[in-house]
Amino acid sequence: MFKFLSREPVHDPLSAPTPTAETTVKTTTCYMCACRCGIRVHLRDGEKGPEVRYIDGNPDHPLNQGVICAKGSSGIMKQVSPARITQPLLRKAGSERGAGEFEPISWERAFDMLTERLGKIRATDPKKFALFTGRDQMQALTGLFARQFGTPNYAAHGGFCSVNMAAGMIYTIGGSFWEFGGPDLDRAKLFVMIGTAEDHHSNPMKIAISKFKRAGGRFISINPVRTGYSAIADEWIPIKPGTDGALFMALLHELIASDLVDHAFLKRFTNAPQLVVLDDCERQGLFAFDPDPQRGPPGDGRNPHNKLVWDTASGSVKNAYPEGIADGCDPALEGHYTLADGTRVAPSFQLLRERVASCTPEWAQAITGIDAARIRQLAREMGETALKQAFELPIPWTDAWGKQHPSTQARPVAFHAMRGLAAHSNGFQTVRALAVLMSVLGTIDAPGGFRHKAPYPRHIVPNYRAFNDPGMIQPNTPLNAAPLGFPASPEELAINPDGSPIRIDHAFSWEHPLSAHGLMHNVITNAAKGDPYRVDTLMIFMANMAWNSSMNTMGVREMLNRKDEKGEHMIPFLVVCDAFQSETVAFADLVLPDTTYLERHDVMGMLDRPISEFDGPVDSVRVPVVPPTGECKPFQEVLIELASRLKFPAFTTPEGGRKYTGYPDFVVNFEPQPGIGFLMGWRGKDGTEHLRGAPNPRQWEAYAQNNCVFQYHMPETMHYMRNWNREYLDFAKDKGWRQRNDPVQLALYSDTLQSFRLAAQGKSAGRQPPDALRERIDTYFDPLPFWYPPLEEAATDLAAYPLNALTQRPMAMYHSWDSQNAWLRQIHSHNYLHVNPLTAQAAGIADGGWCWVESRWGQVRCMLRYSEAVEPGTVWTWNAIGKADGAWQLAPGSDEARKGFLLNHLISEELPCAGTASGTISNSDPITGQAGWYDVRVRIRPAEPGEPEESFPQMASMPPVPGVLGKAASVLTYFAGRGKK
Ligand code: SF4
Repeated sequence: MFKFLSREPVHDPLSAPTPTAETTVKTTTCYMCACRCGIRVHLRDGEKGPEVRYIDGNPDHPLNQGVICAKGSSGIMKQVSPARITQPLLRKAGSERGAGEFEPISWERAFDMLTERLGKIRATDPKKFALFTGRDQMQALTGLFARQFGTPNYAAHGGFCSVNMAAGMIYTIGGSFWEFGGPDLDRAKLFVMIGTAEDHHSNPMKIAISKFKRAGGRFISINPVRTGYSAIADEWIPIKPGTDGALFMALLHELIASDLVDHAFLKRFTNAPQLVVLDDCERQGLFAFDPDPQRGPPGDGRNPHNKLVWDTASGSVKNAYPEGIADGCDPALEGHYTLADGTRVAPSFQLLRERVASCTPEWAQAITGIDAARIRQLAREMGETALKQAFELPIPWTDAWGKQHPSTQARPVAFHAMRGLAAHSNGFQTVRALAVLMSVLGTIDAPGGFRHKAPYPRHIVPNYRAFNDPGMIQPNTPLNAAPLGFPASPEELAINPDGSPIRIDHAFSWEHPLSAHGLMHNVITNAAKGDPYRVDTLMIFMANMAWNSSMNTMGVREMLNRKDEKGEHMIPFLVVCDAFQSETVAFADLVLPDTTYLERHDVMGMLDRPISEFDGPVDSVRVPVVPPTGECKPFQEVLIELASRLKFPAFTTPEGGRKYTGYPDFVVNFEPQPGIGFLMGWRGKDGTEHLRGAPNPRQWEAYAQNNCVFQYHMPETMHYMRNWNREYLDFAKDKGWRQRNDPVQLALYSDTLQSFRLAAQGKSAGRQPPDALRERIDTYFDPLPFWYPPLEEAATDLAAYPLNALTQRPMAMYHSWDSQNAWLRQIHSHNYLHVNPLTAQAAGIADGGWCWVESRWGQVRCMLRYSEAVEPGTVWTWNAIGKADGAWQLAPGSDEARKGFLLNHLISEELPCAGTASGTISNSDPITGQAGWYDVRVRIRPAEPGEPEESFPQMASMPPVPGVLGKAASVLTYFAGRGKK
């Protein structure tokens, strides 16, 4: 009986679950969002085998330590979602894409069809196959598949998510937030979070903030909207969207002007003292260097250390590496100097100082809406906490030059930022400004500051070149490089001799040179135009491109069905692999039913996106805890099967046979280099080796017996300062995480960016951009961070569209994954436009009233809610709650379709651009191609009396596809514990 008002706990959530005759408990990894918490799945026997009864957090898992969120515990309802697709489907002959008319087919027929079609493409022109995937976590496999196929047309979702965050940080400090690094809240005293919703690194961040606040830490959130983390911050500083870069520039101005910078750190560990050529010549703006080959570029010629500094102690030039950091040398951070050959130079920090000189708090106030006095106070708070409340940990370490440091310097100011900064067309330079701000405070891989997670830090620029040789796209031949990577100069762009893009998404072209994650948001638009060429088959995995994963949703739906003058689809064959009947499924020619995360093997490993902790690498897996539903097959197995049938070299034995029996076998035995595999735990024939070792045939069992996670604790001496930590650099190279063991100096000044600018200015030999893009490259490839208004503002009448419009993912749902979830639908079945009361009243719209939201690209009708938790110039809503009628097996007329709405209808995936072949260019950051989701400008007005009280636009209802699960009612009663109905 329930112990009402008893002091005795009803149950101890940390105690080990007790298996009964009826229940068993298996551990695996959650995938209700991308955070990857450890979970315990409670099972009991059902009619058709084990059934999920309950999911809770795994207290023995290092990431979430038993914590579980609403989404995670609702995985049970994803498993039995009525929207589950259960068999392969082929579009009915003669039916239109989008009508959703299918016939079931066997897997054998689906594989035969794909093998024949893809085989022909591979044997003729491999680039006509394009593979683009959504929020999956298997890019090491999907990228390998594309490379082995021989097509450069591959990317995952990063280009439309947060590539600006990843690239902006990696090109500056060698690491980034989330799985690659984060705030050390155990030791921080001040925590500043900017532009972050609650979905990235969700449970670990909540645990860390909880501890941080209990320990008396001060938490400031800077965000246009006060939701989630911002709601529990000690102080919320509202800011206008897209202006964070101006705030960072003003903070840098204040910190430098008041000398609140870490001089010793800047001199030893960054390129701040390195001398930049000032003369008007082909090396203008690049670092001066020592031509002595002994000082020349190491290894593969990237990231050379042969730069110069000005030693104020001797009044002479010294080599930056290593004399510049030798005892007795005091590199100048300021001033102007002349080299022996007459070349005028200055330390890059001097140029930064000059850059921020005009970026006063008053200047930033006019842009950000934050009071200048508050900006000054914020800078002082950051600087004084970092420098005057600093402390040392008694952890000795040795730097890359052999100097022994008896202790480790803490800099207790931690930052965290995500998509709010990234999803703007000025995001890369904004993120650069943040990384430079963190660097001048000395908070990089320091106790209390930002800390890397293995395998980071990478080199600046990382030693991963993207495929860029059009001559190497050959029939039946793998590419000689991975499709994605990090260009270091114009010579590494993926362009043809005439400068046109190699890739269908135009990634790594002059349009978006550093697009490290590709541009998924432009694939359909470009393919439908045949720009730069037509593709034959587009395979999409787990991305809802016909709805919330596209800007210009209605346009993209039309493009998916667009035909040429001969009546042929511009995208002749569209393969969609998904576990659910999304809006995109209706447009497929071939539908492949994926499993849920509870039905398959998965890897979150060091070759891709591990879940490392600050103190050492961590990888994890999923193992099937229930059998696949219907004929569902994991997408990984689909790829292994196709790779084997198509006889990709990496998947074929020397005798021509099949190399791997399936995905689990592949994971265990595939080695990109000897001893390195997809998983680092329990390697070696007997499973006793870790990090590096021969394949272990029982590796999956070892993970399953150990909470599906492997954690390696590095010695304390390798916990910090890893850009320069000799012991760590050697260790990381030995374990295959890095190619070299030389130090990673922080790039306050980016000569990589300058090399593109020199090409645009026509000053450097080698590749030059087309004339139409010269000014664009010259402007945005600034080697120092700067703020500029988002590009869409230049194309918009700001008086006519005075408001910024944003979306956020709600805490209870992840993208479009959860609207079919019977439990989570009860939290969000429709969404509102949240507007500051002052703004709404000025527009004459009542709280709860219907209104129109209009941009220059489109309009939506929705309901509006007053909210004081948003700055007056911004309106916002939850993303992906609105659904097309009948999609996701939602009943016709459901709230999601009638009252929910999608802001994407207001956003264009392209902006006008004179000079490109199409006269348009992606609505993206000009450096990385990051989608400018948060740049759209809108206006609002009340709906007219008598207008229908339903959202606009409305879609024709989607019919259920054959075999869709659709059993919601019985599930609800079953899990209420009243027996199966
Ligand atoms: S945060 Fe929630 S949904 Fe995401 S992985 Fe963790 S438990 Fe699952």
